[in-house]
Amino acid sequence: SGKFFVGGNWKCNGTKESISKLVSDLNGAELEADVDVVVAPPFIYIDQVKNSLTDRIEISAQNSWVGKGGAFTGEISVEQLKDIGCNWVILGHSERRHIIGEDDQFIGKKAAYSLSQNLKVIACIGEKLEEREAGKTFDVCFQQMKAFAENVPSWEDVVIAYEPVWAIGTGKVATPQQAQEVHVAVRDWLKKNVSEEVASKTRIIYGGSVNGSNCAELAKQEDIDGFLVGGASLKGPEFATIINSVT
Ligand code: 13P
Repeated sequence: SGKFFVGGNWKCNGTKESISKLVSDLNGAELEADVDVVVAPPFIYIDQVKNSLTDRIEISAQNSWVGKGGAFTGEISVEQLKDIGCNWVILGHSERRHIIGEDDQFIGKKAAYSLSQNLKVIACIGEKLEEREAGKTFDVCFQQMKAFAENVPSWEDVVIAYEPVWAIGTGKVATPQQAQEVHVAVRDWLKKNVSEEVASKTRIIYGGSVNGSNCAELAKQEDIDGFLVGGASLKGPEFATIINSVT
């Protein structure tokens, strides 16, 4: 459902030099035409990337301030992101939820504000290991979905990223079946709580230890509409392999 979507979340990695190399590798890579590709550099390198990366690839921020800019020390506003040529933002990433302490309500407000300013949203959800082991995977994902849904006026500019926390940066990728099962459940949740149309059109991408070797099997799953890639997106050729895993 929808065009395959692959995002590269560079997290808090890179230098001017390493990013210049990554950009030139991406500029030289052959990418399948029928895939939306987005990269999310750290804020301070967005301008460098915007000015050197092919327009074929869009740019996302990894976070944004919750409202209009002003006296908010250390924050970056949606308006500033738009000004610099960014058209996506990742919200609700597990590292912001669980390391920095953002809650559903704050993340929901950020989604509402970003969309109101036409900044598209990659909305992240996902359970922790203990939640999975306690059989609470769907409950947790649905709760996080609800917080987004209460703040999303229209789903056209939203991509949902299912990223089980236990799979992020651990090398323990979800099996294609585990990912497919949650994607189906989230799609079904959208059908019941938003609409059939939104459920069928909204892209649900998978993130968590995706790499050049496991992407093909995952991409074959009916309800996996793309990937959000961390570590492997820092290597141009491997990220290109993941982009080209579209089926
Ligand atoms: P890894 O691909 O490094 O596991 O990270 C996934 C992720 O958090 C993408 O947002």
